Amino acid sequence: MAIETINPFTNKSVKSFEEISEQELETKIDTAHKQYAKWKDTKIEKRAELLHKVAAIMRKRKKELAQLITLEMGKLIKQSESEIEMCASVYEYYANNGADFMKDKELEVESGKAIMKLSPIGIILGVEPWNYPFNQVGRLAAPNIMLGNVVMIKHASNVPQCAQAIEDIFKEAGAEEGIYTNLFLNSKHIAKIAEDDRVVGLSLTGSEKAGASVAEAAGKNLKKSVLELGGSDPFIVLEDADMDVVIKNAIAGRLGNMGQACTSSKRMIVLESVAEEFTNRLLDKIKGMKVGDPADASTEVGPLSSEDAAEKIKEQVDATVKAGAKVLLGGKRIDREGAFYEPTILTGIKKGMLAYHEELFGPIVMIYKVKDEEEAIALANDSSFGLGGSVFSKNIDRAVLLASKIETGMVFINQYTGSRPDLPFGGTKRSGYGRELAAYGMNEFVNKKLIYVGG
Ligand code: NAP
Repeated sequence: MAIETINPFTNKSVKSFEEISEQELETKIDTAHKQYAKWKDTKIEKRAELLHKVAAIMRKRKKELAQLITLEMGKLIKQSESEIEMCASVYEYYANNGADFMKDKELEVESGKAIMKLSPIGIILGVEPWNYPFNQVGRLAAPNIMLGNVVMIKHASNVPQCAQAIEDIFKEAGAEEGIYTNLFLNSKHIAKIAEDDRVVGLSLTGSEKAGASVAEAAGKNLKKSVLELGGSDPFIVLEDADMDVVIKNAIAGRLGNMGQACTSSKRMIVLESVAEEFTNRLLDKIKGMKVGDPADASTEVGPLSSEDAAEKIKEQVDATVKAGAKVLLGGKRIDREGAFYEPTILTGIKKGMLAYHEELFGPIVMIYKVKDEEEAIALANDSSFGLGGSVFSKNIDRAVLLASKIETGMVFINQYTGSRPDLPFGGTKRSGYGRELAAYGMNEFVNKKLIYVGG
């Protein structure tokens, strides 16, 4: 795969980058390894200072960095700016709280004294996706760099300018070489890097296929891995939900980032008594949304991340419709230059149809009508994925009880599944394992060392 910026609004190539050579890779690993020996013993206040500087530079250059995101993967410009803000807040969060998270803890034991000490382990390799090109990287880099690990990032091939910008920001913030390293590399080299003794942990955010390949490489070499993979999150609407809140969240939760989010509200599961109202109000909101240039702040529907992504969604919707699903809105490519696909509403999806089982990474709303809560839970759990989900009801106790029966890593009540620095993020089933963010994000690539004083 070429390492290249192709603007999805025009499908034109903008800039391409050379892959690094084997020798350059060796030099970068060697530099990171030597840097780790220094960084792990650098005062935690110094590590926090670096992260604060990174955050400050991001905030200062927000407009320009947001333009890069929009250029490379087509995100609406306002959402690109929000991503930069969110990413800066992740760096600040770990700078502010990391020292507390790392404090020694005395354990309750039957005799003697037991201390749990968190210490860094070395170079962590992150394989990252294009859909939140700054924030996904920040979620791995911030906790690990705060902890005393160093990181190397192999970013998605279609966002090289974002990848380079992140490394440049670290340099500008005063990071010595090897603390944060960008690798312009084809993914076929990941397995080889996993064999290197100096690289001690691997993290991937992306598809199941890529996740399996990274987990295999990590496993073969007895290394720890964290996987943040895909999802097909349920968005459950009970009959007593506040429909204004529901509709607002359905739009943001499904059409934000043009539906290209792992926790996007992909399956709307609605009790039949409110299904008609839900469907009509959603339809009204979505039809007529303004299609156009993602760099124009008034645009509501931009392109998908690439021509391949738009074609893949087309094939998935076509196959589902051919199998009998109904198109209430959209259902085809938009007839214009660029990687555009119409915001689409599908109903009548049944088990066995493609969309019932696969992740649809685009602006496709699937509406399922169910007769009661039990049917909603059964449908929500009839998925190989287990990332996030939402429940809407005015009765919080009822919603929390229902949420506890959903087999996912996260359930949000009266809100679409989102991401915040202080909320642990991650999935179960085929959505991966391990957690990012909050204190949990500093608990993955770490030696949880016991020091025991006999007595
Ligand atoms: P992808 O193809 O898996 O790409 C993600 C990253 O993995 C890229 O850097 C890619 O490099 C690399 N990669 C691809 N094949 C690989 C392999 N065999 N071995 C090692 N690395 C490999 O993912 P995508 O389809 O572009 O991204 C969307 C997916 O990510 C969706 O499924 C989405 O749900 C998931 N996602 C999950 C989360 C989460 O936190 N759970 C967050 C965001 C996205 P190249 O670009 O060079 O191929």
